[in-house]
Amino acid sequence: MPIDDPTTATPSEIDEELARLGIEHAKATDTLNGLTARVQRLVNDGMAEYATELRPRIEQARQTIAGCEAAARPLDAEFERRGGWTRAWLVDNSGRHVHRTMACRTCFPSTRFAWLTQLSGHDETEIVEQAGKAACTECYPSAPVDVRNRPSRIKTPEQLAREAEKAERAKAKAAKAITAPDGTPLRTKGYGQIDTEFTARRSYADALAYARYLTRASIAHHRDTIAEYREDAQLILAALAAKHGRTVDDLRAELAPKVEAKWNREHRNWG
Ligand SMILES: [Zn+2]
Repeated sequence: MPIDDPTTATPSEIDEELARLGIEHAKATDTLNGLTARVQRLVNDGMAEYATELRPRIEQARQTIAGCEAAARPLDAEFERRGGWTRAWLVDNSGRHVHRTMACRTCFPSTRFAWLTQLSGHDETEIVEQAGKAACTECYPSAPVDVRNRPSRIKTPEQLAREAEKAERAKAKAAKAITAPDGTPLRTKGYGQIDTEFTARRSYADALAYARYLTRASIAHHRDTIAEYREDAQLILAALAAKHGRTVDDLRAELAPKVEAKWNREHRNWG
């Protein structure tokens, strides 16, 4: 996410944005290199007129690169202004070691790194603690032996992204869910256990419309059933009120048109 004010951002926030810009920059550079090579081939083959068609895409790639560089500048400046902070990288290929710098001499130009931006600005002891046996001995020579014997607890950017996605899904599910005000399942007599707010609202309207229908048909004959449906409606109303921190009266008023619609649709002409 673009950072409005680098001076108030955390090292992780700044590095996360720098990592994102770095990936976008690398992609645009690949595109630019590919297009430039194609233009060169076309020119060599005497088809320069086709090369002009590629110009807008080349220009766009150049603009993306310039944009990434411009966006990274204030973030790099902030890193310098604060006198730097700790950073850690995980090597993607063999060994899966954690390094304090991509310039580590145990690595190669071809080494693929994943930037562990979640650890940016954290104490080196904490980084080593999390890395355990994955801590590079060259980068963290002072790591105690007992720490080096522990398994790594480092999470890759992919793992973190998956976890965030999972949390997001759980949140969306919770937003749709409903329980009794005390957190136990919402159990009703006429509709069984109700798990979603959607079903709760629909069941509420159904219960009251049906209770009204039975009242019209024969209040004496259906007394117990009517009471049960009204009770269900009360339970649902209380659950909805608790979930949204609103009053029962408030929700009853909100749902009244739904009850009315249900009544008109299904029962009025039969009563
Ligand atoms: Zn290293």
